[in-house]
Amino acid sequence: MPEITTQAKTVKDTYRLLINGEYFDSSSGTFFDTHNPATGEKLASVAKASKEDVDRAVAAARTAFETGKWPKQTAAKRARLLNKIASIMRDRFDTLVEVEVLNSGKTVAAAQGQVLQAIEDFEFYAGAISTYSGSTNPMPNGFFNYTQKEPVGVCAQIIPWNYPLMMAAWKIAPALAAGCTIVLKPASYTPLTSYMLADICYEAGLPEGVLNVVTGSGSEIGPYLTEHSDVDKVAFTGETDTGKDIMAKASDTLKRVTLELGGKSPSIVCADCDLEGAVDGSLFGIFYNTGQSCEARSRLFIHEDIYEQFVERFIEKAKKINVGDPFNKGTHMGALISKSHEETVDSYVRLAQEEGGEILLGGKKPEGKEYENGYWYMPTIIGNVTNDMRIAQEEVFGPVVVLMKFKDEKEVLQRANDSIFGLGSAVWTKDHGKAHRLASGLRAGIVMVNNPISAFPGAPFGGYKQSGFGRELGAETLDLYSETKSVVSYVGEKPLNLLGIK
Ligand code: NAP
Ligand code: MG
Repeated sequence: MPEITTQAKTVKDTYRLLINGEYFDSSSGTFFDTHNPATGEKLASVAKASKEDVDRAVAAARTAFETGKWPKQTAAKRARLLNKIASIMRDRFDTLVEVEVLNSGKTVAAAQGQVLQAIEDFEFYAGAISTYSGSTNPMPNGFFNYTQKEPVGVCAQIIPWNYPLMMAAWKIAPALAAGCTIVLKPASYTPLTSYMLADICYEAGLPEGVLNVVTGSGSEIGPYLTEHSDVDKVAFTGETDTGKDIMAKASDTLKRVTLELGGKSPSIVCADCDLEGAVDGSLFGIFYNTGQSCEARSRLFIHEDIYEQFVERFIEKAKKINVGDPFNKGTHMGALISKSHEETVDSYVRLAQEEGGEILLGGKKPEGKEYENGYWYMPTIIGNVTNDMRIAQEEVFGPVVVLMKFKDEKEVLQRANDSIFGLGSAVWTKDHGKAHRLASGLRAGIVMVNNPISAFPGAPFGGYKQSGFGRELGAETLDLYSETKSVVSYVGEKPLNLLGIK
């Protein structure tokens, strides 16, 4: 295999904090390095924000909110700007894809799909805000009530590294549509496309201070943002443990909180499924994005009647997955995000073995010079697993899937639901009734029926149980960036004298 491609010409040397529409070094003057996970090479230096910088970013967002230059814009104007952002993103499509690949190690095909979805998010919320409104409500004679939707205020949006640009778009698009102002904190591994997107927002004409970007250590500035008295809402995507910390810290100021957290999503492969479709969908379900997806279908329940047949085909096709240069169009699986994540994934595979799991494929880093400096793992399939093992209960967040057999609907639902998580889930069957009985019984925010794709602009995305709460991507997300004001008027002819005092 040739050397891993690097095309760092599209990456700047230095990225600085974006506060009130201008770029600044951090107050401490410090930077951290961001890397290409496929090669381990440094890509750029990124400003490391201090608490003082967070204060400035929040103050800029607060001023932009209070002066009303964005919240008081008409919905039509906001929609026009969101469409303009989408249009500039389309013009920069190739550059956004390239930088996303360089900074995350994902394949070009994956990055193309995700950048396209990010663009469509802006277009979707441009449409959604145009018809978003309050209501008039039934009242006793003489009274009149209407509700009005108002932006919730200054939003801290904290995002992970697995879908850097898409996560930024899932957060920014509905918040801007609703009229909020933002302090965005990208993941330290993958800050570059967040800065590019913010640039585009300002180029499209966003008023200064409406979107601010601060980068730096999540464990230092994250809690500070979460506790900040001038922040009205925290929208977070990331690990379940970080989400719990955020929820606790946000309680002191009773901030609005939405949490999109981890998962251990089950896939139920019924005996009457289209076998080839279920195999292909299940490969995509776990190995897409190198398994670094919150809704990765990492627990496969396969009906005992087709178990041998399914597993044989699943392994046969998994062996054909090309792992390597993310820029090569023939590559199916790119790199993991970091050395420490590679070690975590490997430690879960060792744990599975200790628990009695049998490695049917992979279970190690691929061999070869080209993999030496980056962070890699082979597609890994583990059999002889029971649902109570840690490998079946904890999120690995890598290309590792466990296989289990089932007999009937009731029993498989019980085992599929036996998890602290409830994000994604999938059902493979040609029986329409069975598909919808299982869909109804699964305790998960998303059920994919004969389909491996979970996220579309318009379709609500989010979790049950410890996968978090709140939804993204759907029209209802606008509610989560809005307050409802109820205006109650008296419209009777005679004045009201409720105390009866003459
Ligand atoms: P993470 O470690 O929780 O970090 C997420 C973000 O939070 C990063 O920007 C991080 O900053 C910041 N952060 C770290 N500690 C913080 C704290 N104490 N307070 C506030 N912010 C803090 O998550 P990750 O490793 O980036 O992402 C992987 C996780 O995301 C997986 O569990 C995955 O399932 C989940 N995920 C969920 C969804 C969904 O929609 N449900 C979607 C994608 C991913 P630094 O980068 O500087 O540490
Ligand atoms: Mg993490």
